[in-house]
Amino acid sequence: AAAVTTVNAGKLTMSTNAAFPPYEMTTDNGDFEGIDIEVAGAIAKKLGLELQVDDMDFDAALLAAQNGKSDMVMAGVTVTDERLKVMDFSDTYAEGIQSIIVPEGSDIATADDLSGKAIGTQRGTTGYLYCTDDFGEENVIAYDDGLTAVQALNNGQVDAVVIDNAPAQEFVAANPGLKILDTAYAQEDYAIGVAKGNTQLLDAINGALEELQADGTLQAIVDKYITA
Ligand code: GLN
Repeated sequence: AAAVTTVNAGKLTMSTNAAFPPYEMTTDNGDFEGIDIEVAGAIAKKLGLELQVDDMDFDAALLAAQNGKSDMVMAGVTVTDERLKVMDFSDTYAEGIQSIIVPEGSDIATADDLSGKAIGTQRGTTGYLYCTDDFGEENVIAYDDGLTAVQALNNGQVDAVVIDNAPAQEFVAANPGLKILDTAYAQEDYAIGVAKGNTQLLDAINGALEELQADGTLQAIVDKYITA
């Protein structure tokens, strides 16, 4: 394959928010790991590049790819019509569901019950966008990351947290007294975002993704982090 031009020669620079387990998280040693990190590493290898991970807030990670400061954003990013106006997306490589986390014993049992409640979300996410649309901006608090939102729920500062199901499960497992409602809030597709018009890179990423899907690498990475 023809060499791909990247932000840093010889590297594939990925912007992310490494506080979104199991897609991207920071280990005690300060290393990055997770599904997105490993898929990005496998893509980089296919393209003959070295993966460079740049950790930042989620909204900044999206902007970095949009503005060509990173080659791509991988952060459990949901494909939305709004985002498609400002960036291009690869083929889908995973699915997400917006879940609702509440304390055990909460009177919130369905998404409709969120009406009038204080809802914690992560700034710049689809969870934030859906909740502000459905329940009004005054009822939604945007935190720097999902973990901070869950801590606010633990402290009683919000009544519920709306966040993607995979991190929701990890946060609930780590915080006794919280539970995930059975009713999902929204179904979504995750993809890799690149600067609008960067078709050379996008085609290379999609080609690599296709190979990783065909040879089972993608599934093996997901299975390593998510036990069904
Ligand atoms: N999937 C959600 C979104 O794209 C949340 C992603 C995240 O918090 N890392 O908005």
